[in-house]
Amino acid sequence: MAPEPEDEIKDEKNPRPLDEDDIALLKTYGLGPYSTSIKKAEKEIKEMAKKINDLCGIKESDTGLAAPSQWDLVSDKQMMQEEQPLQVARCTKIINPNTEDAKYVINVKQIAKFVVGLGDKVSPTDIEEGMRVGVDRNKYQIQIPLPPKIDPSVTMMTVEEKPDVTYNDVGGCKEQIEKMREVVELPMLHPEKFVKLGIDPPKGVLCYGPPGTGKTLLARAVANRTDACFIRVIGSELVQKYVGEGARMVRELFQMARSKKACIVFFDEVDAIGGARFDDGVGGDNEVQRTMLEIVNQLDGFDARGNIKVLMATNRPDTLDPALLRPGRLDRKVEFGLPDLESRTQIFKIHTRTMNCERDIRFELLARLCPNSTGADIRSVCTEAGMFAIRARRKTVTEKDFLDAVSKVIKGYQKFSATPKYMVYN
Ligand code: ATP
Repeated sequence: MAPEPEDEIKDEKNPRPLDEDDIALLKTYGLGPYSTSIKKAEKEIKEMAKKINDLCGIKESDTGLAAPSQWDLVSDKQMMQEEQPLQVARCTKIINPNTEDAKYVINVKQIAKFVVGLGDKVSPTDIEEGMRVGVDRNKYQIQIPLPPKIDPSVTMMTVEEKPDVTYNDVGGCKEQIEKMREVVELPMLHPEKFVKLGIDPPKGVLCYGPPGTGKTLLARAVANRTDACFIRVIGSELVQKYVGEGARMVRELFQMARSKKACIVFFDEVDAIGGARFDDGVGGDNEVQRTMLEIVNQLDGFDARGNIKVLMATNRPDTLDPALLRPGRLDRKVEFGLPDLESRTQIFKIHTRTMNCERDIRFELLARLCPNSTGADIRSVCTEAGMFAIRARRKTVTEKDFLDAVSKVIKGYQKFSATPKYMVYN
């Protein structure tokens, strides 16, 4: 016999199935008919999964991978096979630019030329003529624009970490610091002053003087001070084995410098490449000269130089080529002479700042005892005085140590000093 409707309601184990009115009522409270049971089941599944993970000993956060059950190794493998490395090409011409059906002529390694379209991820505004691009190997479609090619050894010349030398670490040289700041800092900080007056700011500085007078030290202080990109080139680095290599490096160097907002290029020991041109008698022209001519060309060549300042340092300004030195290329010539008495005292104080010295050392007296000596000599005196203290097993350096060091370094090593020879050129 079929149960009566009243019986159905009374039976608690088999509650009455929900009718349409009940469902509508539940929906007004934001609940579906089975939402509670589904939520409960989800919670249970999560707890179970967590238990399994705990038992396996691997948490999801450890690997960052999806659960192994969701892995699809076959399609992953297939995708890896399809994804091939891109080939480097150069876009030599754009046919119908700025239209829907623009086509690009690319040159792959100077062997084959293709007319291709753009990949999905590249916009037509990204690609310019003469640019390096990455193309796929099937249809040779352009997939990514690439930056210009710059020799890694040139990129390495950029000074990433600022040297810890400041203007306070340079003793004396007040005039030189002033001149250098005028050329390097003023045009970068207040370009409007030059625009108002209608003059071009000086472009380059040549620092010259005997060895050890603080040329490199001042350049390091400038690098520390400015926010501009600082590129340091040692002259001899540009001398290469193969013909044209040095000139190419100079070109790439200036190309890299031009791509920065503001840049300072410092050529140390520029006499390695900047020597005056001469006839070597064999008829062939010299590779070193060609490198120097490329620098001359870059200094005021056809391309706008942008916000690039060029500093050069040398001991032998007389050997440099006149073309390099003419105004417009290196406008300023800053001479680093021997420090005077006051400067020498200051240099003594700078180098003994970190030393454990006796109090009341008469630095002025020491400076008086070192006539005609350079900053490097004075630094050597300070180091030598420290060595005397170490030999005597003392923890502080006394004035006597300094006096001994002066007679050893300044008097003893006088015959090695090249300063008088270099002074001839100043
Ligand atoms: P070179 O022409 O041989 O390269 P340089 O003029 O570039 O010589 P620096 O390398 O600047 O010489 O100086 C050598 C060292 O001498 C510096 O590390 C520094 O410790 C010391 N020195 C030179 N001049 C000064 C100075 N004015 N104040 C403080 N230290 C100095």
